[in-house]
Amino acid sequence: MFKSVLIANRGEIACRIARTAKRLGLRTIAVYSQADSHALHVRLCDEAVAIGPAPAAQSYLVIDKLIAAAKASHADCIHPGYGFLSENAAFAQACIDAGIAFVGPPPSAMRAMGLKDRAKALMEKAGVPVVPGYHGDLQDPKFLSRKAYEIGYPVLIKAVAGGGGKGMRRVDRHADFDAALSGAMREAKAAFGDERVLIEKYVTAPRHIEMQIFADSHGNAIHLNERDCSLQRRHQKVIEEAPAPGLSAEMRATMGAAAVAAAKACGYVGAGTIEFIADGAGGLKSDGFWFMEMNTRLQVEHPVTEAITGLDLVEWQFRIASGEKLPLTQEQVPLTGHAVEARLYAEDPERGFLPSTGKLIALAFPQGEGLRIDSGVEAGDEVTPFYDPMIAKVIASAPTRGAALGRLADALEKTIVIGPRSNAGFLSRLCRSQAFRDGDFDTGFIDRNLSDLKAEPQGLDRAAAAAGALELLAQERARLAALREPDAPPSPWDSEDAFQLAGERRLALPILADGANLVAQVAGGAVTIDGTAPANDAVAVAAGTAVYVLRHGRQTKVSLRDLALDEAGDGSAGGLVRAPMHGKVLSILVENGEAVTRGQRLAIIEAMKMEHTLVAPIDGTVAEIAVAKDAQVGEGAKVMMIAAVGDKPDK
Ligand code: ADP
Repeated sequence: MFKSVLIANRGEIACRIARTAKRLGLRTIAVYSQADSHALHVRLCDEAVAIGPAPAAQSYLVIDKLIAAAKASHADCIHPGYGFLSENAAFAQACIDAGIAFVGPPPSAMRAMGLKDRAKALMEKAGVPVVPGYHGDLQDPKFLSRKAYEIGYPVLIKAVAGGGGKGMRRVDRHADFDAALSGAMREAKAAFGDERVLIEKYVTAPRHIEMQIFADSHGNAIHLNERDCSLQRRHQKVIEEAPAPGLSAEMRATMGAAAVAAAKACGYVGAGTIEFIADGAGGLKSDGFWFMEMNTRLQVEHPVTEAITGLDLVEWQFRIASGEKLPLTQEQVPLTGHAVEARLYAEDPERGFLPSTGKLIALAFPQGEGLRIDSGVEAGDEVTPFYDPMIAKVIASAPTRGAALGRLADALEKTIVIGPRSNAGFLSRLCRSQAFRDGDFDTGFIDRNLSDLKAEPQGLDRAAAAAGALELLAQERARLAALREPDAPPSPWDSEDAFQLAGERRLALPILADGANLVAQVAGGAVTIDGTAPANDAVAVAAGTAVYVLRHGRQTKVSLRDLALDEAGDGSAGGLVRAPMHGKVLSILVENGEAVTRGQRLAIIEAMKMEHTLVAPIDGTVAEIAVAKDAQVGEGAKVMMIAAVGDKPDK
């Protein structure tokens, strides 16, 4: 066994690999870009080597830097994780040339399986069923159009160098083929520098079912059962499970044998996945599945296989890379219970699943029997725009599929992500969706059910906004109480039951909830917004000047629409200085109480790598500095208050 490993990756997979490596007694070496210098994977490993600027093309993807880091740290082996260089044959070769073991297959196997057209040809030869279609060299559009017609619509155009669903187009009518072809080729050229495509019959009611395989360097190969990854969006996996619902033991044996044949055909060693597309119309059938592609690395969704087999796939990877034999025969591979994984992302399902970056103000997961959380971040960490915005994988297992889905939905509902928006609510609705629970689904399920899954704008949650207003009041009260001298006159904020302003025990509190201007009515200790009371099933977390309310997996950001201004009337409205966009406070150039003149520089904020100087909007004195140096500020957040000359400084 190796004594040390350099993990050429980041995020959850780097952390996950480090855990097993440590358990096996390996010295762990992390690599990190400038954006990751404080990342969890760096904190978790024994050592860490800096490999350059934040963009992956200048750090995690630079072969020379990784090899140099491995040499400098005297690593015995390199584990590439998934993504980045994990399927790069040149990287595997560079490791070998440097005398460092590559925890993965030989470069020749990667090359054989790297391009979809060549892989399909090899599989055909090995007797593995492949999707009917054209995967030859001729790329003339007229010729391809004729092929598509012969195959019969619908067809799928795929980039031969494809991955991540890029360069892929479904075409339903011959009239649309030419446009789709040029679109797919353009996209393939841009993404992979290779515009060649293949054409496949589009399988209707398709199920994505893949086989985990393992091969050793002594000629043995087995499979570790299948995973069903049919719940996808834009051809990207969202939820994965094992075993596949409705797949018989006979079909498992047939598919497993095909997968093992595929692995042997390319001289495979290590962990790999053979992806099949199965026809789900009228139920899965042993003769109704076809090879799609092979992933020559560890998969994101490997934990569901670990859950049903009780095996540690990363341990197997290390053992096989160090020359050991497979520890089990095919007959000895267990299959117990059911496991489901959900990919928790920093993204906004209501806005087309747009990535949502920023600081994780709060991040918490439930713990319990049958639950596993694989994460690469902790509360306080930043989700940056540089890398995949996955926050964690939440994996639930139980004796039955129904119980595992219920457990996963519960866990997602108890998951707290505050700061960036997340897809937690969307994922839990998926797990609870009746058709999915009944096993009645295919790869189009999510797209067909976006509305039921509430993946469209939902409008303001007034109950959540009211809960936020209530929390803001509590915060403001506590803040003022802390500030006041012991012998100061009583403030209206002190009143526990209401606020005494202008002789009436009620207050109209102007608030900003997700950008909407609202008025919270405060009376008799109660808060309402348009008659709606605060939700009692929400979690409210105060950060800076805002309160983030999480309810049903959905976040509502609530802040005071500058109380001081509204109380004082319009006259001083010009004294408020807000952050123009989300960014970091680089410096504060004035002090509290300092006299300033209109146009004077007050603070510098860095956003999108550019500096923005905030200036005084009016002549006056600095009445409040609401942020500290180095703090992150949200768009529109209060930075300072300038009291106009003649204003009373106290509220
Ligand atoms: P990529 O390498 O870009 O991820 P794949 O070949 O793995 O592309 O296909 C991605 C997804 O596209 C599959 O999981 C499946 O949902 C869908 N898909 C691929 N081929 C077909 C097909 N012939 N018919 C129907 N759906 C398909």
